[in-house]
Amino acid sequence: MGKDRREIDNKVLNQLDELKRKSLFRNRKTIESAQASRVVLNGKTFINFCSNDYLGFANHPKIVKAFKRGADKYGVGSGASSLVCGRSKAHLELEEEVAKITGRDKAILFSSGYLANLAIVGSFAQTRKDCVFQDKLNHASMLDASQISRSKLVRYPHLDVSRLGEALSSERTNTKLVLTDSIFSMDGDIAPLREIAELSARHEAMLVVDEAHGFGVFGEHGSGVLRDLNLDQRDAPLMMATFGKALGCAGAFVAGAENNIELMIQKARTYIYSTALAPAVAVAANEGLRLLVSESWRQEHLFALIKRFREGARLTGLPIMDSISHIQPLITGSADKATKLSETLLKQGLLISAIRPPTVPKNSSRLRITLSADHSEEDVDLLLDVLASCCFETGMEDHESA
Ligand code: PMP
Repeated sequence: MGKDRREIDNKVLNQLDELKRKSLFRNRKTIESAQASRVVLNGKTFINFCSNDYLGFANHPKIVKAFKRGADKYGVGSGASSLVCGRSKAHLELEEEVAKITGRDKAILFSSGYLANLAIVGSFAQTRKDCVFQDKLNHASMLDASQISRSKLVRYPHLDVSRLGEALSSERTNTKLVLTDSIFSMDGDIAPLREIAELSARHEAMLVVDEAHGFGVFGEHGSGVLRDLNLDQRDAPLMMATFGKALGCAGAFVAGAENNIELMIQKARTYIYSTALAPAVAVAANEGLRLLVSESWRQEHLFALIKRFREGARLTGLPIMDSISHIQPLITGSADKATKLSETLLKQGLLISAIRPPTVPKNSSRLRITLSADHSEEDVDLLLDVLASCCFETGMEDHESA
């Protein structure tokens, strides 16, 4: 082996060793069953409290059936990007339904939310004269979108509207984009969207809201936080959400005014140069939109479970965060503690993965507990009991709630 080759191999090994030393090495789990509130891992069944399948749609019989119907009609692969010949009637129908439920003119579909966020920034902010303002805890895909585009990035402290206002006042750029999650993916808290929309309008900035964790759960028939607050496409010109979370499928959309979406169709590189979403997935996601209406009991049940969990956690003294959503993080601080707690919970039959840097800021490792409409009240009670005993064992009760 040549010297250069050996040096490269050593560099790789050193990086892997460092990750292990810092408890940041990721071990992938392999699920042997459908994604649901019960999953099979190494032949054993666990209650799943870390999935984004918030409504229990990922293995819903009607969605599975729709997917099969879609595959029977359209086959499996979409065959090409949307602009070549990959866009089918299944995509068109889903776009139209998304526009209706979000109250926007038009929607565009992507194979993933990550690609959708790259598309948004890439289409509207392309030079150093354009500035993108982002909450510091925005999802990585939005932050990466800014890194990839040549635009300027200004990050404001989490939820800090006054700092956003100062930043908007001091930038003299061509185009201003304000990007925020509606429900923050790792903290579960909600952005002050009304105030952010007002500020954005005052500074002629375009507000983009990532509803990956709000869509399907919040608002009437799961139409999202924006609709719940009556913020329309003039207030928030672009709304993005994924089909891979509450909708139980895969892919994503961006919805907005006709011209904004048309510009994305023309310019978004992740739309133009990437194979279109599998049509059967579009058929399944469309079924999911119908279920949001016909099975609205799922949102009600989910919110009842959230209430039950929070009340129980308060009584038990668990250091939960200030989240009223289905995402209920339990901060451990160190990555090591998070990993150990996750392993202890696994031994008790609960699957809750540890979330560590760089997904969350340093010293804020956590268990990101997620609740689903597929859970029962008994599941939540069991979760509380097991958490109480395991947190006591790992000394978690000493940790301040962050
Ligand atoms: N935005 C947010 C807020 C997310 O949490 C995620 C996924 N975790 C994405 C975008 C990316 O979506 P996808 O998984 O469909 O790529």
